[in-house]
Amino acid sequence: MKKRIVILGSGESGTGAALLAQHLGYDVFVSDKGPIKEQYKQELNVHGIAWEENQHSMDKILTASQVIKSPGIPEKSEVIKALREWGTEVFGEIEFAFRHAGKCQIVAITGSNGKTTTTELCYHLLKSAGMNVRKGGNVGNSFARMVLDDIVDKQVKDGSRIFVLEISSFQLDDTLDFKPKIAILLNITPDHLDRYDYSLEKYAASKFRITLNQGRGDKFIYNGFDPVIKSNFEHGIANREANGLKPKDIAIRKSFYKNGCIKIGKDLFDMQASQLKGSHNMFNAACALRASILLGADKERLAESLNTFSTPPHRLEKVAEINGVTWINDSKATNVDAVFYALQSMETPVVWIVGGQDKGNDYEVLKKLVKRKVNTIICMGLDNTKIIEAFKSLNKKMVETKSAEEAVQQASKYAKSGYTVLLSPACASFDLFKNYEDRGNQFKQAVKSLTINH
Ligand code: ADP
Repeated sequence: MKKRIVILGSGESGTGAALLAQHLGYDVFVSDKGPIKEQYKQELNVHGIAWEENQHSMDKILTASQVIKSPGIPEKSEVIKALREWGTEVFGEIEFAFRHAGKCQIVAITGSNGKTTTTELCYHLLKSAGMNVRKGGNVGNSFARMVLDDIVDKQVKDGSRIFVLEISSFQLDDTLDFKPKIAILLNITPDHLDRYDYSLEKYAASKFRITLNQGRGDKFIYNGFDPVIKSNFEHGIANREANGLKPKDIAIRKSFYKNGCIKIGKDLFDMQASQLKGSHNMFNAACALRASILLGADKERLAESLNTFSTPPHRLEKVAEINGVTWINDSKATNVDAVFYALQSMETPVVWIVGGQDKGNDYEVLKKLVKRKVNTIICMGLDNTKIIEAFKSLNKKMVETKSAEEAVQQASKYAKSGYTVLLSPACASFDLFKNYEDRGNQFKQAVKSLTINH
């Protein structure tokens, strides 16, 4: 009889896992507590995979020998509690794909901020160096979908395949044996703490899972100046030490990049012509370069391709220059740390658009930067009280707005030639927008309308 696998949650990772499981010959059932997107329903139907939406039928779920859960489903949910009690093996799509990935090399990237940028850059560097690379995970294609593609496309069997994977902490929580060849831990700052009983240690432990199964021959690249990483290092790698076959730990330090150059060993990489701006991006690039060199990429090719990398949208994305004012969309800055680096990278007076749904933010760390760099604060949110309270002692001009259009209109009033208008909200977007992309796109649209009206 076929082994039964149940997939909980049918987004990109759930659907990818379902398709892979089906191909491997499992009896597959997909269950989602909410509605399933049309495109995924169609894919499941085409492959004859049974599914349900807006419910979890426990009679159909508890008959599984293995359950693959979406990273969005918390451990405390009823369905997971029931499965744990029943003794079913539960893990995530990354783990499932890893078990079937065969001969390949995995670069896994995690951290509170910079995952997507570093994943995209690492992919770009390796691709430009002529390597056989794909990217995905928490962004774009699920790992399972890519593994399936390689199984179907029998040509990729020589072990040359490299997967560059963005991995979130929720995805790491659902791994068991996942063991990347190169793991990158970018930083750990408070985020998503609601899923970790408001404990930074628990959140840090989740991030350290990226290196937990690594052994001899593997490499762990980490932020050597991050205080949370430093204080959790011993504890975070305790299990790894226990297996006695340590991977190589590689700390990236601030001294590795300065004056627009990154130094990796004896090699210097000039970043002046790169789109990547700010010290955080120099750090991200140092991590991506280090990983690419470890995988054997040609250094001259790497130096060239740094200049051809386009930063992903909504991350310090330059939108326009209108009458000497530069407009930047950093809508993906949904926490205080990301805003810290955005403000730090500003070289002109700033009109700062900030606000949205508060995530328990502590704005104290931004105060010095705001004092020094910001001229006007444009609040853009339903409730701006916390921001106003946090910065009122700085006596900056402050305006309240309730839409991207209004915020852009107001910003254009206060921004003089030579200024930068920076949307870097430090908050989630759900009070006024569908998501951060919607917020960024509405901002860009409003800026474009300014161009037309001028
Ligand atoms: P993630 O995928 O981890 O959310 P992104 O690359 O999408 O990271 O960037 C999210 C936000 O964080 C953006 O505002 C970006 O400018 C900022 N950021 C990027 N890299 C870093 C870093 N190393 N440290 C702090 N902030 C960063």
